[in-house]
Amino acid sequence: MVEMFNSDPHWLKIVITGDETWVYGYDPETKRQSSLWLESGEPRFKKARMIKSKLKCLLITFFNITHSEHPKYLGIHLDRTLTFKTHLTKLKGKLSSRINILHKLAGSSWGSDANTLRTSALALIFSTAEYCAPVWEGSCHTKLIDTQLNSTLRIITGVCQPTRIDWLPVLAHISPPELRRKEATKKIGNQLLSQNFNISEAWTNSWISSDIPNKNLITSPSVKIPGFSLPRREWVLLNRFRTGQGRCAELMKLWGYTKDPNCACNVPQSMSHILDDCPLYKFNGGISNLHSVTPEALNWLKALPLRL
Ligand SMILES: [Zn+2]
Repeated sequence: MVEMFNSDPHWLKIVITGDETWVYGYDPETKRQSSLWLESGEPRFKKARMIKSKLKCLLITFFNITHSEHPKYLGIHLDRTLTFKTHLTKLKGKLSSRINILHKLAGSSWGSDANTLRTSALALIFSTAEYCAPVWEGSCHTKLIDTQLNSTLRIITGVCQPTRIDWLPVLAHISPPELRRKEATKKIGNQLLSQNFNISEAWTNSWISSDIPNKNLITSPSVKIPGFSLPRREWVLLNRFRTGQGRCAELMKLWGYTKDPNCACNVPQSMSHILDDCPLYKFNGGISNLHSVTPEALNWLKALPLRL
């Protein structure tokens, strides 16, 4: 990425999306991968490290706008109109080579019992066939996949080609492909629902736990605050008192614009000084009445001779 940046400082502009993946810092070898041939009498080898490292590293992958008719994203081949025809056609090819494997299992003497075939079919074929199914479930090309899954079921059950397909899922004890996809989609939906996310509740909680000045004015941050229909000057002034940040003398000095932090009454002029304490300007209703824009508060705002 550093190289890309050096050769073209604008290269970031061609990035359209990013994806992050967490990976383990170390993947342990399987028993078989780490096995070694030994001479008789030779001591056993010690396996250097058996546990996965807790350390994780972040891979960031970027995709640029190089044109492709059928870009592949997270294992899905996309097409312009999102019919998923390309994806499902490729998936069909992948499935038929896996079905050949199942055929071989069905023919061999040790694999021929129905339970073994069923388990193998689920692990080898259905899992592949249903990858990201909620994404393409609505496509009109799902028949491409269903015919493959039906022949899988035929291998498990051994029924003849003309057998009505409604028999297949019953005999193989695997729900009909279309219903299995619906189920997968439903699971995702339920997951989202069970999170029970409520935006105004979440906002209220984060507001309550913050340390914002005058936060007690707001009980529910998602509720529209009073004053939206005020003239611009009063609206702005109101918000500057609410937030405690305005062009009062104390802050103007702090920001480096002026030298004198004092009010005309000779004490440091903060926003709350003007509102609550100043003998020259103060508002008798306090910040809560100002926040609610009572008629008195509006009159006070209109009459206030300061530019804050
Ligand atoms: Zn004052």
